[in-house]
Amino acid sequence: MLKQVYQFDEGNADMKDLLGGKGANLAEMTRLGLPVPPGFTITTEACMSFLNTTKELSDELKKEIDEHLSLLEKKTNKSFEGDKDLLLVSVRSGAKFSMPGMMDTILNLGLNDETVEQLASLTEDEAFAYDCYRRLLQMFGNVVFGIDMQYFENYLTFYKQKHGVKLDSDLTGDDLKSIVTEFKRIILEIKKKPFPQSAKEQLHLAIEAVFHSWNNERAHIYRELNRIPDDIGTAVNIQLMVFGNSGDTSGTGVAFTRNPATGENKLFGEYLINAQGEDVVAGIRTPEPIEKLKNDLPAVYEEFTRLAHLLEQHYRDMQDIEFTVEKGKLYILQTRNGKRTAQASVKIAVDLVEEGLIQEEDALMTLNPDMISHLLHPEFSKVALEKAVKVSDVGLPASPGSAVGKICFDAATAKEWAAQGEKVILMRQETSPEDIEGMVASEAIVTSRGGMTSHAAVVARGMGTCCVAGCSELEIDEFLKRVVYPGGQLNEGDVISVDGSNGVIYLGELEVEVTETSHYFDTVMAWAKKHARLDVRMNAETVSDIKTGLYFGADGIGLIRTEHMFFGAERLIQMRRFILSNSYIEREKALKVILDYQMDDFKEIFETLNDLPGVIRLLDPPLHEFMPTKEEDIVLLAQEMNVSKNEIERRLKELHEVNPMLGHRGCRLGMTYPELYIMQSEAIIRSAIEMKRETGLDVTPEIMIPLVGTTKELSELKEKIELYLDALMEEEDINVFYRIGTMIELPRACLIANQLAKTADFFSFGTNDLTQMTFGFSRDDAAKYINEYVSKGVLPVDPFQTIDKDGVGELIKTAVEKGRSTTPTIKIGVCGELGGDPTSIEFFDDINLDYVSCSPYRIPIAYIAAAQSTIRRASNNE
Ligand code: PEP
Ligand code: MG
Repeated sequence: MLKQVYQFDEGNADMKDLLGGKGANLAEMTRLGLPVPPGFTITTEACMSFLNTTKELSDELKKEIDEHLSLLEKKTNKSFEGDKDLLLVSVRSGAKFSMPGMMDTILNLGLNDETVEQLASLTEDEAFAYDCYRRLLQMFGNVVFGIDMQYFENYLTFYKQKHGVKLDSDLTGDDLKSIVTEFKRIILEIKKKPFPQSAKEQLHLAIEAVFHSWNNERAHIYRELNRIPDDIGTAVNIQLMVFGNSGDTSGTGVAFTRNPATGENKLFGEYLINAQGEDVVAGIRTPEPIEKLKNDLPAVYEEFTRLAHLLEQHYRDMQDIEFTVEKGKLYILQTRNGKRTAQASVKIAVDLVEEGLIQEEDALMTLNPDMISHLLHPEFSKVALEKAVKVSDVGLPASPGSAVGKICFDAATAKEWAAQGEKVILMRQETSPEDIEGMVASEAIVTSRGGMTSHAAVVARGMGTCCVAGCSELEIDEFLKRVVYPGGQLNEGDVISVDGSNGVIYLGELEVEVTETSHYFDTVMAWAKKHARLDVRMNAETVSDIKTGLYFGADGIGLIRTEHMFFGAERLIQMRRFILSNSYIEREKALKVILDYQMDDFKEIFETLNDLPGVIRLLDPPLHEFMPTKEEDIVLLAQEMNVSKNEIERRLKELHEVNPMLGHRGCRLGMTYPELYIMQSEAIIRSAIEMKRETGLDVTPEIMIPLVGTTKELSELKEKIELYLDALMEEEDINVFYRIGTMIELPRACLIANQLAKTADFFSFGTNDLTQMTFGFSRDDAAKYINEYVSKGVLPVDPFQTIDKDGVGELIKTAVEKGRSTTPTIKIGVCGELGGDPTSIEFFDDINLDYVSCSPYRIPIAYIAAAQSTIRRASNNE
């Protein structure tokens, strides 16, 4: 027969799967000889078998519970249903991961109309006994019978007001007796059943309620948000009650071994004298800071400090401990690794290593990579957030940061206001390359359309600018310059506050707190870099972004999107000249001017990178993205280029595509306009030559061809570029080494990777396009239905944010295997947005890629994730 119940002294901390987190830790503390009230745990397996079968406690399980109750009676010399010293228990849920969505606690279970009298005479305290009973009725009524807590609370308040009683603890035995009578009446009236008088029946019903609570809606939502599987169930802990409400030498409290907000190595917590557990959280009485316990109960304080230290040393991490004092005797009711802020997490990690308690590897494993980003951007102050009014909270947290500013609806206004010293937030339905100057000038960017890889999201992340994308409940009217949100309307110039870390937008100006990288952050980053097998490169093209990436320790650049270099007004004009030219000669002329611009850019980049590698991608987006869309801009362009407005409109029509993302873009541009790719390659190599001549710096540019789907595209383009560059170097009488590689961002490219590897010097996975092309989801429009897919469980996660291992991941694996079958040493990286996502990074590490590349502000996240992956793999192989 499967064992479904364990006494606390039968388990240990490694049994979290079976006993849940709370049960395993209670067992561990019992094993360590700590003062833990005895008890037993019903396993998570028993929960799953209950939920998967009759949803009733089986006779077998009831029998096992009985046996363990008898054992508990023996251990405590008390009796659960008899007439000896009364055994009362607490019943608590406890899954492997702590889950606030589930039923938590029932105290004082076992009391009834008779035993309450027994308790009163045993303790010689009627008020205490009836207070315990009313608490049981209240908690049992709420969590087992589902009666709203308000019914009980309202009556209690009403009673106290009527009788002029201020505090719960001032209620007399008689008061509490009438309250108990009323609580029983409430249960009978609402549930149409009396409160069960049999202690065993109470226990069975409570256990069933805990099991059922695994499937309540809040628990489901919590699991979905925290990616906890649905099929692991919860354990139930049944434990001897100890009473913090037995007078002035009793009490209850919660304490952390270190400050969970700052990480300071000092006991932090609070307690209440003469109270039971829920009083501390209920907020009816204000708890005292833990240091005050030193005055109230000095011996208890000393003992608690000793045990808290012992637990921290034992678990080798900051602990969150619940305790109760009964008549001067201290009991520990729970311990777990404490939740902490990002700031505290890095300080605690470094301190624990310096104290010799853990190794760097263990310290890195305590960090949450995503939370690290909170240390890099200013945040709204907690006080401000408490009072803040939301405009919307459905947008995607596309780029972290906390920004405040006046809203405007076009790039030109953003630029103009910013030049006048205003803080501006650019709101657009979606952004395009034309908006770049406005985006640069803005504190934040908000869009109503587009996903995590939309133009706004990618560009904002690259710049480290706060961005909320795809905020679909906003009706942004760029023409009327207003936005309608569920609670009202905002006009141009109104002030909002935008939180790019969670996608929430607030009305008005919220105060921000600036956090700087600390000694602790820097130390943790140095460890991560040392332990990570993967290199982490950055996606960046401006000198300031590159400097940010280098500051965070980037190993080079994984993606320079050269199209981002055409966004300045003067450059855009030249690009438009190229696009509008009717002949090769005219195109060449325009390209000559662009070549000079590009050379300036590349030289700056090489200089900033020094000897680190940089992958430069040749032009990728469809050409119409460079063209104006508004009437006034078309007129202006016609004047500047000295052609008719009609001519421009004709060319715009020609460029129009029904599906531009599947259209004339990527290497298809290079195939039809080879001179474009040749000009860019020339600019790259000429810059490298100049660098070598002027500074002696020998750079090895990595030239990357995008959106390749056939071997011919790659081989033809590579051959043309090589021919040209070889001639150029001969003419210049100097040699620079360069590589030409390809992006892998089409399913077909994955399947022919063995052929591509014959030509390509390196591969880089463009997971944005690869995800788009594999699912057939437009990366700019998918946010609308992906959110719904994820909430309904059609997809486990947004595949643009976290790798779809089964589909996109399989294609990547295939490409890696095929590519390496041709060239075992071929360098392979990832430069799509997944390169900055911790779960995806673990996948890329598992399949032995060489590097991931992400926007500069995600580099710390990527390093921590990469280091954790290396450490996890090493420990799995041990
Ligand atoms: C990609 O497709 O993943 C990529 C990096 O290229 P882009 O986002 O510029 O299309
Ligand atoms: Mg791409």
